[in-house]
Amino acid sequence: MSWIRVAFVVALAVCYSCAQACAAGAAVRLITLDCGRIDIADMDAFADDGSYKGVARRLVVPCYLIRHPKGNLLWDAGIGDQFVGPAGVTLLPGFVAHVPVTLTSQLKRLGLSTDDVGYIGFSHEHVDHIGNANAFNHAIWLLNRREHEWTMAHDGQNGEPPSLLSGAKTARLQMIEGDLDLFGDGSVSIIQAPGHTPGHQVLLVRPSGQRPILLVGDLWHSRDNYKHDRVPRFNTSRSDTIASFEKIRALARETNSKLLIAHERSDFHPVFGARWLRSPTPLRHSN
Ligand SMILES: [Zn+2]
Repeated sequence: MSWIRVAFVVALAVCYSCAQACAAGAAVRLITLDCGRIDIADMDAFADDGSYKGVARRLVVPCYLIRHPKGNLLWDAGIGDQFVGPAGVTLLPGFVAHVPVTLTSQLKRLGLSTDDVGYIGFSHEHVDHIGNANAFNHAIWLLNRREHEWTMAHDGQNGEPPSLLSGAKTARLQMIEGDLDLFGDGSVSIIQAPGHTPGHQVLLVRPSGQRPILLVGDLWHSRDNYKHDRVPRFNTSRSDTIASFEKIRALARETNSKLLIAHERSDFHPVFGARWLRSPTPLRHSN
């Protein structure tokens, strides 16, 4: 074989491996991380038709990492690594949260640090979705303007955001006013779906080579609520909620998307497995 032919074969091999590596590197991936549990003594508030009265339930809490060639997005920030361990934290009377494994340790297992996350966004700003936000002070914070103004009005102090979102004072902010195609290629889109809160939103992700996925956050809290379009008593607008149900169902049909309901166990498949999902004994509560 001549040197020219050898060089040609080597060049072809390099191109082939590069093409494979580049294709892999350019992939859009959705990774579910385990960001806690909430034990609820009485689920009554989760349906205004009374169907959950007296029902106790353990809700799962995911965070989602979307890996994109233009940057990593963390969608929802869970309960908060500061509460790791069996003691838990009482978020509200009758709502006790637990963090079985930290978000930062899961990122580390993926070879990432919090500084490798370029964007952070939230389905909404309830405490079980923003707990780790302040750890991402290098990220661009995608804040829904209506949602954030509502949070500031209800939970802020003297014009300052609540402590779990104090990083908003120094982080780079990108205010969201409507639907947003984050990377400009249709692979990751923020879609407005208000009603649970004034600026609640869902995320449409198109992972490479897979069916699109709609991360619907707390638009529905369970598969039962999805099936019967039940509206929680604590939603900020019933009519907006119903309109968002219709909008997101239509979008799911149009895009052939699979829906993932944030707090639904059967939709929860964290990449490192779920710990404490079915604790055989009641967890010890404190705080
Ligand atoms: Zn929630």
